Amino acid sequence: MKPAARSRLHLEIDLFRAGKSTGFIRVPHSVHRSAYGWLPIPVACINNGEGPRVLLMAGNHGDEWEGQVALGRLIRDLDPEQVRGRLIILPSANFPAAQAGTRTSPIDDGNLNRSFPGDPDGSVTQQIAYFLEHVLLPLCDYAFDFHSGGSSLMYVPGTLCRRDPDPAGMARLLGLMRAFGAPIGWIGSALQGQDRTLTAAARRQGVVCMGTELGGGGQVTPSVLALAEAGIRRVLAYVEAYTGPVPARADTRLLTLGGNDYYVYAPDGGVFEPLVELGDEVKRGQPAGRIHFHDTPWRAPTTASFARDGLVICKRVPGRTERGDCLFHLGTPYDG
Ligand code: CA
Repeated sequence: MKPAARSRLHLEIDLFRAGKSTGFIRVPHSVHRSAYGWLPIPVACINNGEGPRVLLMAGNHGDEWEGQVALGRLIRDLDPEQVRGRLIILPSANFPAAQAGTRTSPIDDGNLNRSFPGDPDGSVTQQIAYFLEHVLLPLCDYAFDFHSGGSSLMYVPGTLCRRDPDPAGMARLLGLMRAFGAPIGWIGSALQGQDRTLTAAARRQGVVCMGTELGGGGQVTPSVLALAEAGIRRVLAYVEAYTGPVPARADTRLLTLGGNDYYVYAPDGGVFEPLVELGDEVKRGQPAGRIHFHDTPWRAPTTASFARDGLVICKRVPGRTERGDCLFHLGTPYDG
């Protein structure tokens, strides 16, 4: 199939063919090892008559595995007869990063979720971003982007949406979050990256978008993977794209994520000692963590404190830390 727009990427499968199609998005990549080669981004499409058009993607960051594993299983298990409309499933959107097991691409150091709207003539990651925003998103009504904490962060499993100033749009986003049924769901008003994320690209293209932060730590856990798989089927059923069996859901605690005072950053380089756990309720001024000077161990560690009250929803994983690394972030009760 020949993509519209100016993308240099080639889509092997026909997004309008009935039933389940699998193949690759080919990213031209001429290098010493392979003069006429291409990079293979796995993609699947399931079409079954009229219905919503949904993009399901993971591996936007290559080291966030839960969504990648869940979408692979969805491709294998989903019966096209249980689908209404069209699902485009992209388990490892930044495939070079996923192959390397890293957040960013080893080819151009590209962070796909800071690369939108992309560039059809840019680096590999910029070309992938351009293809997503200008070829795939215009074919979709909904986009679900399954992130997790990756190598450096661990999350209380949750869904997230960017605040929509339109009340009807906001109600629709809250409906999606409640349908997914993660323990928490948070609404960001000042999300990092702002206009360069898949969420921003979706909004530019008029596509309703929900993300997740499912666990992390560079690993897959059975409980978080089970939540991901159940949540995906529940949210697909909610938008009437899936008619098969749906596992029961739990209630979602809705939270707000605001600006800088929600985050705690390392004040120095050293070894991070957390002083609170994920899921703790904390107070303004409460010590969050210590940074130990293992190069000068007789020096007293520095302490980083929370700048406001809140619920700890994200925590740094690795011990070794540099000044400016995110140690924690908070959520506060959703204010409507
Ligand atoms: Ca991520």
